[in-house]
Amino acid sequence: MDMHAPLIDPFARPINYLRVSVTDRCDFRCVYCMAEHMQFLPKAELLTLEELDRLCTTFVGLGVRKLRITGGEPLVRRGIMGFFRQMSRHLGKGLDELTLTTNGSQLGKYAAELYECGVRRVNVSLDTLDTAKFAEITRWGRLAQVLDGIKAAKAAGLQVKINAVALKGVNDVELFDLVKWCSDEGHDLTFIEVMPMGDLGNEDRLDQYWPLSDLRDQLTERFTLLDLAERTGGPARYVKLAETGQKIGFITPMTHNFCESCNRVRVTCTGELFMCLGQEDNADLRAPLRAYSDDTALREEIRNAISRKPKGHDFDYSRQKIEGQMTRHMSHTGG
Ligand code: SAM
Ligand code: SF4
Repeated sequence: MDMHAPLIDPFARPINYLRVSVTDRCDFRCVYCMAEHMQFLPKAELLTLEELDRLCTTFVGLGVRKLRITGGEPLVRRGIMGFFRQMSRHLGKGLDELTLTTNGSQLGKYAAELYECGVRRVNVSLDTLDTAKFAEITRWGRLAQVLDGIKAAKAAGLQVKINAVALKGVNDVELFDLVKWCSDEGHDLTFIEVMPMGDLGNEDRLDQYWPLSDLRDQLTERFTLLDLAERTGGPARYVKLAETGQKIGFITPMTHNFCESCNRVRVTCTGELFMCLGQEDNADLRAPLRAYSDDTALREEIRNAISRKPKGHDFDYSRQKIEGQMTRHMSHTGG
């Protein structure tokens, strides 16, 4: 087989979207994502920025057209702007989009530089516009800093999409405020169903589970929802609100089967390649990265892994028991 042939999985899905977690650390401690006192990985376990460069470059060589940098909080990794600058060399030469998912806390510092590196869109996670609730959810975060970061991103020319985890008893009462704020500010808005990731011990995720079907029903009380055909290959579905023209997304990993069009894989900050967010099977890409200065073995390992990409995942809340519960945290796989 041609060493550089694009990645196609056993279900004929082309794999052209890579999400890479560049750190397990974060300046926040969101309750659904991390414990307050986290034991982070020793630095030697993390891929170096050079290794991350080789890894991403290899994937671009194998047909990846969209690269999303995530974490942990990607913008707290030291030297990360150098990495973005390096990755920008692939834009227009295989790579169509370089982007990131961030909690927004460092955007005030880095937004302009991200734009210079060819980033045009960022996803910012923001669940509430209420200062006290924000501090409660993120434990260590401050709302004002994130709002300033979002302003800076906008001023730098970045398109901002807001991702909000739907949390019953937390931001359900704010649904229309969030929608209005995003409309006023010109941000797209996507809601994410809270997922049973990790075992944080202190809170029962099921208590906070707010099905997006309910959220959608509430929206229809005030707006006309027009389904959009747009598909990203991921778990998001979009509607347009006829009254405001704004786009709202729903990421429903539990209640919808989106796997048939899956075009993505994830790499953790230690170089594990996960072929599916909901399955444990993974491939160690750090070993070939560290064992050889040449990328042949790395490419082979990637191809092998893609040939094992499963058809779909096993989450299921419907039986009030979390089937297929994942023991790893979102901060590990990067969401
Ligand atoms: N720190 C960055 C951020 O917060 O955007 C990037 C990493 S974070 C793990 C990526 C996304 O995962 C965020 O939008 C976050 O809200 C979401 N997330 C984390 N834990 C989750 C969970 N248990 N269920 C659903 N989404 C979760
Ligand atoms: Fe940090 Fe993002 Fe996880 Fe919150 S969701 S703790 S910001 S990695």
